[in-house]
Amino acid sequence: MIIVLKADTEADSPEVRRLLEFAEGFPDVTTQIHRIQGATRSVTEVYLIGRTGVIPTEPFEEFACVEKVVRVTEKYRAIGRHAGGVDAVGFQYNGVHISQDTLHVLPGLCAVDTQANVEIMFKALAQHGIQTSRAGAYKPRTSPYDFQGHGAACLPYLFELAGKYGIRIVSMEVTRESHIEEIQKALADTGQATGVMLQIGTRNAQNFELLKAVGQQTELPVLFKRGMGITLEESLNACEYVASGGNRRIAFCLRGMKTNLGDPHRNFVDFGHVPAIKRLTRLPVCIDPSHSVGSRAVSPDGLLDVFHVTAQGVIAGANLVLVDFHPHPEQALCDGPQALLLEELPRFLDDVAIAREAYEKRRARAAGR
Ligand code: PEP
Ligand code: MN
Repeated sequence: MIIVLKADTEADSPEVRRLLEFAEGFPDVTTQIHRIQGATRSVTEVYLIGRTGVIPTEPFEEFACVEKVVRVTEKYRAIGRHAGGVDAVGFQYNGVHISQDTLHVLPGLCAVDTQANVEIMFKALAQHGIQTSRAGAYKPRTSPYDFQGHGAACLPYLFELAGKYGIRIVSMEVTRESHIEEIQKALADTGQATGVMLQIGTRNAQNFELLKAVGQQTELPVLFKRGMGITLEESLNACEYVASGGNRRIAFCLRGMKTNLGDPHRNFVDFGHVPAIKRLTRLPVCIDPSHSVGSRAVSPDGLLDVFHVTAQGVIAGANLVLVDFHPHPEQALCDGPQALLLEELPRFLDDVAIAREAYEKRRARAAGR
């Protein structure tokens, strides 16, 4: 059961304390309190955990601080929408607001290779007013002989350069718990020059210990990538691990599914699921066209498949676009063949803007405007 408190309620007020005591008076029930910071308002929610099915909602509704009481009707207790009972307020991180209504593009290097390439990349983003990027330092590779990322060694210059070019969020995969501390330390050493969104890669989608670790810290948000060979339900349950640890700043990323049927794309593009994730969960939805398509294939109309699938995700309401770029893809140590070129950045952004405008028009029509 989720108790949504009224907007101006202080979480440590006497009335909220009485509410918690009352809830904990029921057998086998514990409580958790969560404050979700949105762009224009913050929402405080009390979660009742345990045998809540037998608890009546009415006594809770009588507390003056309570806006509404929502019975958890689906499996995804923390990330779920509960049949529209709870709002998707999104989250704020390092001055950037991310929600089911916003759109941010995160172009960047799949993997950090050289300091020079990082600088060229961030400089190009700054020239286009982009404050969000991607850059992998820890790379989980299919072959143990492939480049595994520069690890903690590249973090100081990566974060310094991000700060220099006004990048507020760098999305970066972590593959083990100690990486979180390495990132936090490097951020502190640079005076928090930038911010990091901890990426859970598709290969770790069910690494529950890692999910608990990123969920139990609340400093850095998490970009959870759908598992490429498991059901959506399994992926959402795995994502719930992050939220159940206490971290509610999570975005859910679609990145294509493994099919191995000789398809033209590296993975079967699943961006038709953008609205479904928004309906099932409160999470902002990210799309990763690069790892979905996996190549620079061009369609007869002259548009790259990466452009096409990006537009498909954005016109369906995606909130984040994680996309591989590289100043010299032939030198890239990871995923060069799918990287877009820096000279393609303006056209890519333009294409995204066209698709977003179309989405907004469609949405307005649906709302009868
Ligand atoms: C990545 O984004 O760098 C990556 C490895 O993606 P995925 O986990 O989706 O394969
Ligand atoms: Mn990659």
